[in-house]
Amino acid sequence: FETLKSVDNILGSTVDHGAGRAKQLIGEALKSRVEAIDQDTCGVGDEDAFFIADLGEVYRQHLRWKKHLGRVKPHYAVKCNPDPQVLRLLSELGTGFDCASKSEIEEVLKLGVDPTRIIYAQPCKTKSYVRYAAQHGVKQMTFDNADELYKTKQLFPDAELYLRILTDDSASLCRLSQKFGAALDATAELLELAKKLELNVIGVAFHVGSGASDPKAFLKAVQDARFVFDQAAALGFHMHTLDVGGGFCGETFEAMATVLSSALDLYFPPHIRVIGEPGRYYVSTAFTIACHVIARRTVADATLGTTSYMLYLNDGVYGNFSSIIFDHQHPVPMVLKCGTNFSYDTRRSGYDTPSMTEYSIWGPTCDGIDVISQSCVFPEVVDVGDWLYFEDMGAYTKCSATRFNGFTDSHDVVYVCSEPGASALLGY
Ligand code: PLP
Repeated sequence: FETLKSVDNILGSTVDHGAGRAKQLIGEALKSRVEAIDQDTCGVGDEDAFFIADLGEVYRQHLRWKKHLGRVKPHYAVKCNPDPQVLRLLSELGTGFDCASKSEIEEVLKLGVDPTRIIYAQPCKTKSYVRYAAQHGVKQMTFDNADELYKTKQLFPDAELYLRILTDDSASLCRLSQKFGAALDATAELLELAKKLELNVIGVAFHVGSGASDPKAFLKAVQDARFVFDQAAALGFHMHTLDVGGGFCGETFEAMATVLSSALDLYFPPHIRVIGEPGRYYVSTAFTIACHVIARRTVADATLGTTSYMLYLNDGVYGNFSSIIFDHQHPVPMVLKCGTNFSYDTRRSGYDTPSMTEYSIWGPTCDGIDVISQSCVFPEVVDVGDWLYFEDMGAYTKCSATRFNGFTDSHDVVYVCSEPGASALLGY
């Protein structure tokens, strides 16, 4: 983390040039992959949906984090997208990792990451996973209830515990506090129990909800964390770390970071270490997916004299578009290849032009819920064999894809890197 020097300088030049370079690289990669597929002769699955991942975008997000939230050491939330190259880049950049299960811990340890850089941030853990964490020296973990403290006492009495507290996550896309977090009227009792069990509580953790939109949620959570730090001090604990969780989005990051940084400076002196667990922030914009049009149904409205089409893609909500269901996303379809014409990054204005054709976009399974877009318009007449693409598909997509109806849950990822700094770290 400390190895990147002069973040301001690097960021200034990377953001301007990198974004342009990224467009070009992603466009070229999409085109060459699609052109290599002859849909009339290809093998089974050769025309499956695929991702282009720009690792340079992950790198730029890291620099942006360092610039605006320098006090907070990011522990990437692996659950969001456990892509091996993303994990490798972040491990080279020196981030920590937030793992939710044994296999996520294993994946990160395999990269040679020191176990002290991992937090097992799951307040309700599987017993055998706790034993695994103990055996591999992953000491940091969260808890929010008494049963978990007894479990920890039995399986890992040396664990370094964070008390996860409840937050107001009402303005977030995915609310987490319905499930996790101790209310402030329960924290004293939990700390007393931890003291009685001689457990080592080293800090407080919170999460303002994934896809948070109200920066003030961070202020309130930091204030609440201060309250619990003081409670703990009164009981003889020496808490030294605050975990501010995830919830950061690219669009609102600077606003969130400003509120959070001032709150941290106000309520937590510099000797308190601060970590975070960003997931979506790092990967959302780094992944683009290309999908093949496998079928089309023509819908003619005799009364209105219009023709629209239902397009069926080879990926849907049971696959990488699971983010529509689980993450409340609305991916925007764009035409990549129509006939012989490639149109990446030629987003047109004037979608209200009368010549536009209306489409609904469906996934490949038998289920009616498997719809990606109820209505969109393109200037072209898109047909079977054409390709669509969707940007911002890096967060909570492929990690929650299923094999429903026998479709694959494992799609190729083509890597590009629009930042020389990241290429140097990765060796390509
Ligand atoms: N930390 C924990 C404990 C989580 O549950 C999650 C998401 O569910 C994250 C971090 C990552 O959140 P985000 O992707 O919003 O940054």
